[in-house]
Amino acid sequence: MALQRVSEITTSFYTPLLLDLACNYRIIAMAHLNVATSAICASAVFPRLNLGIVHWGKMFTCSSYAKLPSSFGSTSRGGLSSLISSASVGKNVGSIEVSQEESVKPYLWPDKKRPRVCILGGGFGGLYTALRLESLTWPEDKKPQVILVDQSERFVFKPMLYELLTGEVDAWEIAPRFSDLLVNTGVQFLKDSVKVLRPCDHVGMNGPNISGCGGTVQLQSGLVIEYDWLLLSLGAEPKLDFIPGAVEFALPFSTLDDALKVNDKLTKLERVNFVKANPIRVVVVGLGYSGVELAATVSERLEGKGIVQAISVDSSILPTAPTGNKEAALKVLKSRKVELLLRYFVRRIRKSADFTSSVDQSDVAAKGNNLEQLILEVQPTEKGAKTQLVEADLVLWTVGNKPLLPQLEPSGWPFELPVTGRGQAETDETLQVKGHPRIFAVGDSSALRDPKGKMLPATAQVAFQQADFAGWNIWAAINNRPLLPFRFQNLGEMMVLGRNDAAITPSFIEGVTLEGPIGHAARKLAYLIRLPTNEHRVRVGMSWLAKSAIDCIATVQSNITKVVSDSYAEAEYRGVANVVSETCWLRDLLLELQQPSPTATLVYCDNVSAVYLSGNPVQHQRTKHIELDIHFVREKVARGQVRVLHVPSRYQIADIFTKGLPSILFDDFRNSLNIRQPPASIEGGY
Ligand SMILES: Cc1cc2nc3c(=O)[nH]c(=O)nc-3n(C[C@H](O)[C@H](O)[C@H](O)COP(=O)(O)OP(=O)(O)OC[C@H]3O[C@@H](n4cnc5c(N)ncnc54)[C@H](O)[C@@H]3O)c2cc1C
Repeated sequence: MALQRVSEITTSFYTPLLLDLACNYRIIAMAHLNVATSAICASAVFPRLNLGIVHWGKMFTCSSYAKLPSSFGSTSRGGLSSLISSASVGKNVGSIEVSQEESVKPYLWPDKKRPRVCILGGGFGGLYTALRLESLTWPEDKKPQVILVDQSERFVFKPMLYELLTGEVDAWEIAPRFSDLLVNTGVQFLKDSVKVLRPCDHVGMNGPNISGCGGTVQLQSGLVIEYDWLLLSLGAEPKLDFIPGAVEFALPFSTLDDALKVNDKLTKLERVNFVKANPIRVVVVGLGYSGVELAATVSERLEGKGIVQAISVDSSILPTAPTGNKEAALKVLKSRKVELLLRYFVRRIRKSADFTSSVDQSDVAAKGNNLEQLILEVQPTEKGAKTQLVEADLVLWTVGNKPLLPQLEPSGWPFELPVTGRGQAETDETLQVKGHPRIFAVGDSSALRDPKGKMLPATAQVAFQQADFAGWNIWAAINNRPLLPFRFQNLGEMMVLGRNDAAITPSFIEGVTLEGPIGHAARKLAYLIRLPTNEHRVRVGMSWLAKSAIDCIATVQSNITKVVSDSYAEAEYRGVANVVSETCWLRDLLLELQQPSPTATLVYCDNVSAVYLSGNPVQHQRTKHIELDIHFVREKVARGQVRVLHVPSRYQIADIFTKGLPSILFDDFRNSLNIRQPPASIEGGY
């Protein structure tokens, strides 16, 4: 890499450094600019003079300047080059505290002339803005270079995270890789975490009409991106530090990792429950949209295996939702026996003290599975009421969100972003951050009021619509056209309530709520249309069609079987009877060894008729050939020694050994059996 004389180094990259130096060393700035007004301006605008310098000293060591490649930036950008150059080499720079350990790696934009757009966060706001920018028509020399930075390698369609718990969707469908989504576009994706923002586009200093850079962004890897235009769309993260114990013991539900963790924990609890038949206790904290959707989904999954309790300080569920959605949700929660603890707040979460003192072998195994029993101390909101204790195996936290912006501002940096008390960047109606003509903010990172003065909600719907405007307004800003004011159009509210259940209240049809399977299908269709790219939409559409076809075929098959072939149920029932007789032998053996099994043995069968026969005392005409088996199994069920439960065919892994299966099921079962390609081949071919 060719070394370059410091005086020739591009200046635009150093504009933030320059400004920092200007505030911290205004005497130097005066000397070089030789304009008295600069000093007046510097001291008036930047009263805090000594805070930022150590940081910048670390970031831009003298040696790191020398290391910068010649291709970095362009001298045509930024009008303060002489000041930067001389400030960098001047003897006063020697007084900057320099660390040799940290090195700056500038991001090399492929083109020196075209505008540089940096998008921070690839969620609903960021990714959709990038795609919108791609879809617009640009004059040849104005088409911007766009880089999208996200800490994760996948875009997450958050409203469908619940479907991961029901097995309705696969991770690739709702969390595709950015690299796949952006493959046919000019957008560069960078997996990295944003650490520090240093804008230098304050109104009156370096606004849209000046050709200098808009600022820099420092990433965790040490990479520094200089941009002309910036989009802030970093979203928000769950806030758990409200009460003691929540960070340690409760699980949030906001990212793909969170959803996979919750799914994993539920699976482990189901395994323990399978052996011990103890009911699984899940507590959901919060009864806003997220809490209600989680309570409905988890209670459906745990049907017959556990209890879901949901806690809220409010006097009703979904305080801000339309009545139709609220009523539909209440109906579902009631039918699934979810216990609602309204007007309670959680004071503390801790491990159950009894747990460690009374461990038996299976509890130890449970602990090995990272399962622990928890206690929630809950307090009624009425004055003087006593604290109560609620036991749980799993606590799901859905209360509170905190935007990430405040963590990114360096202390002492002069051009602070205007951030609200909630930590969101204040924007004007064109989505430009107030006082920063080069920065736009969308989604959960931004705070904007509607014309009536009401704050827009932090939802995907808002972020999605803002992305459209942000893309357009960046286009307009680059092409010196007027910017458009954003107007939010509320299309209504949707919520999922289980595998085949949802509620939708569209805003454009007064008083109508679509519920149950119709609502579910409509919601899925609406989200399919909103998936980010055409290619992904088609792949997911095909996959969902294939899955529905499998489910339909399974349902039709079971109906036909019921009508046409009694012998099928008989054969399945015989299979159940054989299993029961084997387990009886084992239970007798344990009894003789003085280790009687205290709980019922669970037998799973995928034939509904066979399950029904095992519990139904009415003799059915179709069972004339298997009467003896019927009495044998029923007797064991009646004595509480055996429980026969239904398992859907989609989870009947043993089918892979006995029948031809559709490829999706086959792949699924094969994966469950851990049969995979070896992870790597060894050198030499062994
Ligand atoms: C479980 C769940 C269900 C929801 N359901 C609905 C719904 O049904 N309808 C609805 O309208 N809204 C729903 N929402 C809200 C909606 O998802 C958010 O409002 C929306 O995602 C906000 O979009 P965004 O672009 O601002 O942020 P996000 O979509 O959260 O994207 C932010 C991105 O920034 C990245 N990021 C964060 N910090 C950094 C960093 N330091 N460096 C690099 N990258 C970073 C993240 O990885 C993420 O990709 C739901 C939210 C959740 C959690």
